[in-house]
Amino acid sequence: MAGKLRFVEEAHEPLLTDRPRRERGVVYLVGAGPGDPELLTLRAVRRIREAQVAVYDHLVSDAVLSLLPKGCERIYAGKERGNHALPQEEINKLLVALARNGSRVVRLKGGDPYVFGRGGEEAEFLARYGVAFEVVPGVTSASGAAAYAGIPLTHRDCAAAVTFVTGHRRNGRCDLDYAALARPGQTLVIYMGLATIAEIRDGLVAHGLSATTPAAVIERATTPRQRVLTTTLGELVARIEAEHYCAPALVIVGEVVRLREKLDWFDAARLSAETGVRPLAS
Ligand code: SAH
Repeated sequence: MAGKLRFVEEAHEPLLTDRPRRERGVVYLVGAGPGDPELLTLRAVRRIREAQVAVYDHLVSDAVLSLLPKGCERIYAGKERGNHALPQEEINKLLVALARNGSRVVRLKGGDPYVFGRGGEEAEFLARYGVAFEVVPGVTSASGAAAYAGIPLTHRDCAAAVTFVTGHRRNGRCDLDYAALARPGQTLVIYMGLATIAEIRDGLVAHGLSATTPAAVIERATTPRQRVLTTTLGELVARIEAEHYCAPALVIVGEVVRLREKLDWFDAARLSAETGVRPLAS
């Protein structure tokens, strides 16, 4: 790999070389969805099956990786919180290097590449260096979690808008517009929010959102290990700690969480017994 990275560094200037076009590789930025392989798009499956090299994040499920062809080189790019196997800049360079070696590269990203996945940065880098790329959208974890936990993201009775935010700190704090997020009649979905949930709760409550507002945490959404807790904004932190919820998880805040009582159907074993649909792979 080191050799390939060097190759990119040397090639930083005229990346559009005079090689014939057919020799050049391509990078597919593929949304791998939240875990259940059956949530992949048809195009994602096709790109995965034709991959020569796959560069994947830790959120990509084993079930999705198992669709890669034999002989496909696999490169783990990490991206767990605080444990990046490869820094973003190295990933960017690696993608360029692999494509410039003439490979069909599949860059697998959890959920949708353009939702908190740094897919935009990778696409920018590829564009800057003249590498052909395609973005294949995926089911973002908010959509997967909503469907599998029975929590609609909008509903005519209680939520006319939904906002996706990241709880990831930048410059030491969550840079969220609490005044806007605390307004009633909307749903808030927090990605990467477990570590900063107390700070976010305080911000929302300080701007007028009631501590009795329903809230949910969905861990490992759409996988056989999915866990869901429903509570209130006020109780949220204590429940997360008591029940040891950990990443990957989403927090949903809003009246829509109440609908889970009526809409929760996801029980893989029951579903399988009742319908004959096979249980989800991990
Ligand atoms: N591009 C991804 C998000 C990447 S940021 C997407 O569209 O879903 C990583 C965060 O996504 C995690 O910290 C978690 O908040 C959320 N996430 C991803 N997969 C998840 C899953 N299966 N269950 C719950 N949350 C998930």
